[in-house]
Amino acid sequence: MAKPIIAIVGRPNVGKSTIFNRIIGDRLAIVEDKAGSTRDRLYGSSEWSGKAFNIIDTGGIEINSDDDILRSVRMQAELAIDEADVIIFMVDVKAGITPADLEVSQILFRARKPVILAVNKVDNMQLQEDTYEFYGLGFGEPIAISGSHAIGIGDLLEAAVNSFPEEVEEVIEEDVIRIALIGRPNVGKSSLVNAILGEERVIVSATAGTTRDAIDTPFEKDGQKYVLIDTAGMRKRGKVYENLEKYSVMRALKAIERADVALVIINGEEGIIDQDKHIAGYAHDAGKASMFVINKWDVVEKDDKTMQVFSQVIRDHFLYMSYAPMLFVSAKTKQRLNKLLPIVNEIAEHNSIRVQTHVLNDVISDAVAITPPPTSNGKRLRVKYVTQVAVKPPTIVVFVNDRELMHFSYERYLENKLRAAFDFTGTPIRLFTRSKR
Ligand code: GDP
Ligand code: GDP
Repeated sequence: MAKPIIAIVGRPNVGKSTIFNRIIGDRLAIVEDKAGSTRDRLYGSSEWSGKAFNIIDTGGIEINSDDDILRSVRMQAELAIDEADVIIFMVDVKAGITPADLEVSQILFRARKPVILAVNKVDNMQLQEDTYEFYGLGFGEPIAISGSHAIGIGDLLEAAVNSFPEEVEEVIEEDVIRIALIGRPNVGKSSLVNAILGEERVIVSATAGTTRDAIDTPFEKDGQKYVLIDTAGMRKRGKVYENLEKYSVMRALKAIERADVALVIINGEEGIIDQDKHIAGYAHDAGKASMFVINKWDVVEKDDKTMQVFSQVIRDHFLYMSYAPMLFVSAKTKQRLNKLLPIVNEIAEHNSIRVQTHVLNDVISDAVAITPPPTSNGKRLRVKYVTQVAVKPPTIVVFVNDRELMHFSYERYLENKLRAAFDFTGTPIRLFTRSKR
């Protein structure tokens, strides 16, 4: 099941991002480091008491500068109500109850979601007494915390995870391929969804399944079952925050988590920007099968080299996703759309390949024979054996004499050898090294 979502809401300066950063700790996605933008993230994951969750810092959602504070907090509270399972409403003990706090509380009253009141900046025992006035907000007992002193964070998370909704077992059918179309606003996601569903021989199921907040569209083509994830979220428009960049990244994340295959949609008319990289990077990090779908190819002025040049641009921008195939399409003219699902089938299969242990070991021992591991301080890495421990994505553990001797470059070499031996097109693979005597 998808991880529950906690949203932190509150007026500016109460300490939301301080707490957010404490909660996600250094669990920063590698991708973001690559893109050099760890600074202002607003979505992260963590766990407490063995319960994993995602957390949103709504304060990180930037608003037009001409909007006043009241309008901003209102919008952030609405976003939290729409997206979260549990809301942390944060106030500042030093400031007391302010008009903006009252504004937020008015909106949160209407949320039929659990709200936990956190009073921040309770840096010492004396201040504890001042937290009682916040009972007046009507959300029960306030939890006293201090972001800068790391006080009370455990109590806060305990309260939050205890308010998670009952786990509704999402029935995941094994033979169904779950597809998420991800990409920034206006690349053509909704148009592509409609074009796919409108294709010949596509049978759209009458009973659209409903899961929590996303409406998925099940369909079938040529005997294969699929589910398009979150298409309603793309179709149902009009919320003020829908077009905000960070919001679209967050939506993509939610969809990716529930998908088997991520279609990274690129606007062929505009080319690639950082936001595309963030979104694609999440699919990579999540271990999903993925491909690039370059849309709006109808409007691109082309000669016989254009596609090749664009392909190279994509390869250069997404170095870590060299495994992802590309397809140049048009939702408008339906050009090459008939090629899409066959590729989806293929990469979904690669994502769940299980390679037999002896075959895997043959490939690796050949690789080691061709290029022996380098020595370090007179000690040589010895590969004992390898075994695949998981699928989706294929996850392979390399047992060696001493894992300290394994180099990133040698790991990369082994991965390349695996990719040369088996068809892992469209899927990331994970390689872990473990010491074994
Ligand atoms: P946000 O606007 O709600 O995200 O608030 P920030 O996390 O940016 O914090 C606003 C200011 O409050 C910063 O100067 C923080 O250093 C400060 N702050 C955050 N948590 C605490 C706390 O627990 N105690 C004190 N004294 N200051 C804090
Ligand atoms: P989304 O925000 O990613 O869901 O994008 P939409 O599907 O709403 O499309 C954004 C705009 O691009 C709309 O005006 C579409 O009509 C247009 N559009 C989408 N796909 C194509 C395409 O293949 N070719 C052209 N010319 N326009 C397209």
